[in-house]
Amino acid sequence: MQFEVLATCHTTRARVSRMTLAHATTNLPTFMPVATQAAIKGLTPQQMEALGVTLILNNTYHLNLRPGIKVLEAAGGAHHFQGWRHNLLTDSGGFQLVSLSKFTKITEEGALFASPFTGEPTMLTPEESISIQHAIGADIIMQLDDVVSSLTVGPRVEEAMWRSVRWLDRCIERHEQAGKQGVQNLFAIVQGGLDPALRDACLEEMVKRKDRVAGYAIGGLSGGEEKDVFWRIIAQCAAKLPADRPRYSMGIGFAEDLLVCVALGVDMADCVFPTRTARFGVALTFKGPLNLRLRKHAKDMGPIDENCPCPSCRDGISRSVLNHLVTRETAAAHAVTQHNLCFQAQVMGRARDSILEGTFPQYLRTFFSDYFGENGYPEWCVNALRSVGVDLLEGYPNAKVVKGPGMKWDYSDAP
Ligand SMILES: [Zn+2]
Repeated sequence: MQFEVLATCHTTRARVSRMTLAHATTNLPTFMPVATQAAIKGLTPQQMEALGVTLILNNTYHLNLRPGIKVLEAAGGAHHFQGWRHNLLTDSGGFQLVSLSKFTKITEEGALFASPFTGEPTMLTPEESISIQHAIGADIIMQLDDVVSSLTVGPRVEEAMWRSVRWLDRCIERHEQAGKQGVQNLFAIVQGGLDPALRDACLEEMVKRKDRVAGYAIGGLSGGEEKDVFWRIIAQCAAKLPADRPRYSMGIGFAEDLLVCVALGVDMADCVFPTRTARFGVALTFKGPLNLRLRKHAKDMGPIDENCPCPSCRDGISRSVLNHLVTRETAAAHAVTQHNLCFQAQVMGRARDSILEGTFPQYLRTFFSDYFGENGYPEWCVNALRSVGVDLLEGYPNAKVVKGPGMKWDYSDAP
């Protein structure tokens, strides 16, 4: 991996950087679409390429179960298997194990779970997670960490944090034994729950291993915790992670979350949100999400967004036909998914452009005004951005600020 910071924002901690991996150069900050089963739900690799996407995510847990490592090895790795020519990131499999398996027991050796096929107890160790990710062949691979829900409290959070540090060492050992450094790039995952002291302890240990890891992720968030706590943990971690390593905030996909994280110094994020919400008929736009199921779109012959460069909007797929088809025909899911991923790319692309031009604070103010308008700005976003010197209300004295996570989507007219 080559990682080079090209510009930093004069006000916030945002930065633009260039990350060169074996299959592509990816400009950061970027949003990574999730291809859980070796496919973005609803789009072909060629469509992803046409949207300019250069980095996607595969889930190790799913690929290891099906088609399995033997098939992936026979295919020459996951890139060949799915026909994806650009960069690929795999998670460790740990998060899915904990969230999807019928039972999981964490021991020092690894995560013990029931095989979904035979019900037999099966162990995933840090070493095996790395070996599976070597076979998959992703450009960026993740350490196995001991994942606890962000709502967990008490000694289990500290235990999981220290175990994640020990498992990082085992992952590094296996990665280096296999001689994969530089070919595949191992990221550490900072844990410690919502406790700033535990986060600091984890950061200190993991930063000590900087020369043996290519980048860092901030894990254990986006699990239903208060947004006001979420942003403070992101700010704390991003500020203390080394400037010469990419920083990846896991499981973040709402536009406002992305922009706050970028302002706090985050470079990468992933989430199933934009593709999942597309299948439920919600299109993302700079004027806020649009529920295409609402009857008010039935006679609207305009595109989702007149200014959107995506093929769905450019080639005249109307809100009217989407209203007719969405959640019923797969073609509508394809069209809206394509649009939503283009929207995510534009949110991040405009962040990069404005950081380079020195206008990122103004972009934030304009974005929030357009996106939240009279619905009101989420208070946590206002507070988070104030902490890095941006007052969203500057120039917008009448903007309303609302408590809670913000943005209530209107499904009231849905059929
Ligand atoms: Zn579009």
